[in-house]
Amino acid sequence: MKKSISIKARVTIWYTVSMIIITSLVVIFLVSFSQQISKNQLQQKLIDVVTDTIQEVEFHNGEINNDIDFYNNGVSLFIYDINGYLIAPRVNQGIQVDSLLEDQTVKVVDSIGERWLVYDIFGEKDNTNYWIRGIVSMSGTRQTLSDMAIIALCILPIFVIITAIGGFYITKRAFIPIKNIAETADTINSGNDLSSRIKIKNANANDELSHLVNTMNDMLSRLQSSFETEKQFTSDVSHELRTPIAVIISQCEYILSGKANKYEEKQAFETVLKNSKRMSDIISQLLMFVRAENGKFKPNMENINVSMLCEMLVMDFENVCQQNDIKIESNIKPDIYTICDEVLIARLITNIITNAIKYNKPFGSINVELYENDGYVVLNVKDTGIGISEENINNIWKRFYRVDTSRSGESTGLGLSMVKWIVDIHNGDISVKSVVNIGSEFIVKIPLKNK
Ligand code: ADP
Repeated sequence: MKKSISIKARVTIWYTVSMIIITSLVVIFLVSFSQQISKNQLQQKLIDVVTDTIQEVEFHNGEINNDIDFYNNGVSLFIYDINGYLIAPRVNQGIQVDSLLEDQTVKVVDSIGERWLVYDIFGEKDNTNYWIRGIVSMSGTRQTLSDMAIIALCILPIFVIITAIGGFYITKRAFIPIKNIAETADTINSGNDLSSRIKIKNANANDELSHLVNTMNDMLSRLQSSFETEKQFTSDVSHELRTPIAVIISQCEYILSGKANKYEEKQAFETVLKNSKRMSDIISQLLMFVRAENGKFKPNMENINVSMLCEMLVMDFENVCQQNDIKIESNIKPDIYTICDEVLIARLITNIITNAIKYNKPFGSINVELYENDGYVVLNVKDTGIGISEENINNIWKRFYRVDTSRSGESTGLGLSMVKWIVDIHNGDISVKSVVNIGSEFIVKIPLKNK
């Protein structure tokens, strides 16, 4: 099987190769460009020297004057007669290159193991025709350029190695979060343990990978909490249903045993009925939660006269309150309309008033108020009941939470979580103020212009 190269190695190889190619191209370009410039400068110098010297050439009776400088500024000068015989300098002061004389043409000539620039001019002075030739060695510039190339070739590999090592190190460090993500995913996979988090050196760093790690850690926290809630919920549901089922089974067994008289049988049937109703209550409320959580529940939003709805519900409760020696009073501002789901709002009001009755004291009272305030319809239900202690007040919205678990017969612990859910889908707000043994006050706010 083909062994794949790591991304780190691939990235490093890619930019190292690119860097070698780019730097080499730059060096080649610079060397050839400087070569051309040096050649042009040398050529200009040669032409200038030869052209200047030609002004100084003089002949007396066919003899050349001796004042001419035959080695000027690195350029060697030679004067030939019309047949190409050297007439000056007399003493062989320089090296002559072997090349045909051509008027005003710069040539590159390889001679005696070197490269030369050669420039000739055909001249006429004092009735004498002659050739003047200038030669200059190109080896000086060639040497400088080859030195430059050698230095570049020595520095380039060192430079490439340093950048490759540095680049590999940076890439390796940059990939540490990816390694950590893979390790954490492995840990979660193998141990089913959602409490693992991806390690991160600096959680506040602003780079893309740190952002990814932070987002994934947040996602893991949310997943963990939702799995735990789910687990807790399943165990709560089974626990809540087990109790009434156990009661129903034991009552049925008692009836079937034939030991109960008529009165006891009737009582046993009543217990079975009460527990069956309780189970039915729990199941229907849970079904609503499940539908809500699956996104299948669509509230039926209509323009409702909440004042009328509230008044009717308070009237319905008057009898129950009377039976429980509780006084119910209301102060409902007429004709408050809002867009809401009527059935859900009725359930919300019912749940809160039911609690105000259930958790009230004998001869206690309940006060229901409905009014408009700051774009909201406000429902305020105040009771003079047992109140809720500070340590419990934040938990009352949780499913199956009951402050007093011994009241399990008459409560499911689902009412207020249902109320909270109804408030949320109406974009409203709910709060509670309570003092133990004095009473509680539930304040619900629903926007008047709900969509
Ligand atoms: P349930 O009433 O079925 O137990 P709820 O969700 O309606 O469930 O209420 C949760 C808990 O909050 C109750 O068990 C009770 O302890 C507390 N509670 C709710 N309303 C009141 C109230 N008006 N006064 C005192 N305690 C209350």
